[in-house]
Amino acid sequence: MAESDQEVGGVDPLVLGELLACATNNLWLGIILFDRDRKVIFCNPRYREMYALSPEQVRAGTPIKDLIAHRLKLGLNIRGEAGAYIRARTEGSVASEETVQQFADGRIIAYTIHPLPGGGGMATHEDITEREELSARLQERNFQFDIAINNMSHGLCFFDADHRLRVCNAHYIDMYGLPADRVGPGTPLAEILDMRFEAGSVPAMAREEYANWRTGVATSAEAADSIVEMRNGRTFKIRHRPMPDLGWVATHEDITEQRKAELQIAHMAHHDALTDLANRVLLGQRLKQALEQGGMFAVHHIDLDKFKAVNDTLGHQAGDILLQDVSRRLRRLARESDTIARMGGDEFVILQTPISGQGDAEALARDAVSALSAPFALGGHQASTSASIGIAIAPREGATPEQLLHNADLALYRAKNDGRGVHRFFEPAMDEEAQNRRALEFDLRNGLAAGEFELHYQPIVKTDGPEISGFEALIRWRHPRRGLVAPGSFIPLAEENGLIVPIGEWVIRQACATASRWPSHLHVAINISAVQFRQPGLTEVIVNALAATGLDPGRLEIEITESVLIQDRNGALATLHQLRALGIRIAMDDFGTGYSSLTYLQCFPFDKIKIDRSFVSGVGNDAASLSIVRAVAALAHGMGMTTTAEGVETDEQRERITAEGCTEMQGYLFSPPLPATEIERRFLTADVPAMPARIAAA
Ligand code: C2E
Ligand code: CA
Ligand code: CA
Repeated sequence: MAESDQEVGGVDPLVLGELLACATNNLWLGIILFDRDRKVIFCNPRYREMYALSPEQVRAGTPIKDLIAHRLKLGLNIRGEAGAYIRARTEGSVASEETVQQFADGRIIAYTIHPLPGGGGMATHEDITEREELSARLQERNFQFDIAINNMSHGLCFFDADHRLRVCNAHYIDMYGLPADRVGPGTPLAEILDMRFEAGSVPAMAREEYANWRTGVATSAEAADSIVEMRNGRTFKIRHRPMPDLGWVATHEDITEQRKAELQIAHMAHHDALTDLANRVLLGQRLKQALEQGGMFAVHHIDLDKFKAVNDTLGHQAGDILLQDVSRRLRRLARESDTIARMGGDEFVILQTPISGQGDAEALARDAVSALSAPFALGGHQASTSASIGIAIAPREGATPEQLLHNADLALYRAKNDGRGVHRFFEPAMDEEAQNRRALEFDLRNGLAAGEFELHYQPIVKTDGPEISGFEALIRWRHPRRGLVAPGSFIPLAEENGLIVPIGEWVIRQACATASRWPSHLHVAINISAVQFRQPGLTEVIVNALAATGLDPGRLEIEITESVLIQDRNGALATLHQLRALGIRIAMDDFGTGYSSLTYLQCFPFDKIKIDRSFVSGVGNDAASLSIVRAVAALAHGMGMTTTAEGVETDEQRERITAEGCTEMQGYLFSPPLPATEIERRFLTADVPAMPARIAAA
């Protein structure tokens, strides 16, 4: 060519040719030039290499169709028939074209045809296998990422260093109630905050304040976890994690339900389920706090006096209503700074803090006693209780919660002993009393083992004739230092600590043994405590005692008070029926002093009613007592029961109760309780008259 001799752009054409050759030889692209007849003009080595062609297979003049046929042999995937494929690419004029070829061995080669002015063309071929694989992998990765972020239970968002959203999942948009069409890659954080303010999915803060806080978290290089309560009532846990490029990723978890459950559990751990008052645990914490603050405060220990009876006669449901009402009444008395706690059962504590003096505590205790003495409406029934309160004043009466509660408890013990329905302040002497009680308890345990108990017997005589029908066994404790101790001083304690059970068993055996030596028409009456009555195995103890002593069961009488029937009435009735089936007689003791004596007469056919001494002593001068004695005697007569008047001390009383129809009597008038030997000497030896002269003469 003539022009090739000329210089191009001032460069020697020879040099230029070499440069071009060098460039095409080293090109990553395969290049091929062909003329209008679709015959090869030139190709570079890379082209040959790509299609594994020898220089002989592709030289100037080689038809392009041979090269396409060669590619088909190499495993080029095509659609349709080979001939048609080749024809489509080699006929007609050369046009621009981009094609991607896939080979059976996995290679992907793309080529682009550029038409040349003379009618031929140039094609560049590029092996894009790796690039395609990479992009396929990327696509797959993106796909997985999308699936992952849109299926996680948390909201997720990525922001870049400029505080623009990179990506977020659908959950994030939902959680914050964002308009999905306004949130996408590039949305600035500030705009998202605006949308959140519109939706109410922001904490109760001013926009500025919240935005500053959020930006602070965003720009900090620290990971941060925060729990945010939204205006719309939801609670989110946000985990913010900075990224190396100064952007961040955050996950958003809706923990509203979990939060509620946690709060509920925390509440339950510190409150009583029935009344929702503070429980022991919370009270302990509040007491500790109050002590740490160092001011003066009062601890009121409140105990309902007759709650058990209400619970047992009207049922647990009624008992629950009563306790709830008690808590309402106490709430009305307490201030915001006070704590009211239920300690379990019918025991409550008010921590009254602060107080300016003992007078404040006095006033609250009085109010509480009076508030709790008003009758309670329990679904159709009315019930009355009263409350006893023991008070300890802090800090002078206790440096620890335990000590304060203990001292308030001692004061409560005193309040109960002082007749209930009253309040008492702790006094150091109470501690001494408690120590005495403990000492007494210690002695009681030893006393049983050491055989310090003895039984005295009090005759029971018939009112219509001068005969003794039997004796009531009454326990005494011959204490090595205290002398002869009456049962009133130790039976309640023995009932409190359970010692009444072995003591009672001893009484049963001892009384049966003594009575078995008496003439066979005389019976023996034994008092059985409600505490012992509830113990399983009572019947067995009695049967064993009868068997061991040979006493006829018909000569044994059991005296119980109505308290036996108050708790577990069915269990008690079963035992009573068992005993009755053995031939033992059952008497109701202290009739009229309990809560609802008449009710209990209905549920068991007692053999005998013992009218309490408090009524008998009044028959001479108190019309009410006389009416009661009269009514009970008539009632008993009507129901086929005998009646014993207790504590007859005067002739007048004897005459009255006899006139009213009592069948038996017992009292100092006839004889006090006496040791067994004395009973035998006075009443059971043939050579002395069975009756003291004055009764026999009556
Ligand atoms: P209780 O069963 O009502 O016994 C009658 C009490 O009245 C006895 O008191 C008796 O000594 C007393 N007493 C009898 N006649 C008169 C009288 O004319 N005037 C006065 N002022 N009192 C009279 P004691 O022996 O002190 O017993 C008190 C209570 O202790 C008994 O009351 C009974 O509830 C209980 N108790 C006595 N012995 C036992 C026992 O072995 N086991 C159990 N569980 N309790 C017992
Ligand atoms: Ca008795
Ligand atoms: Ca009695």
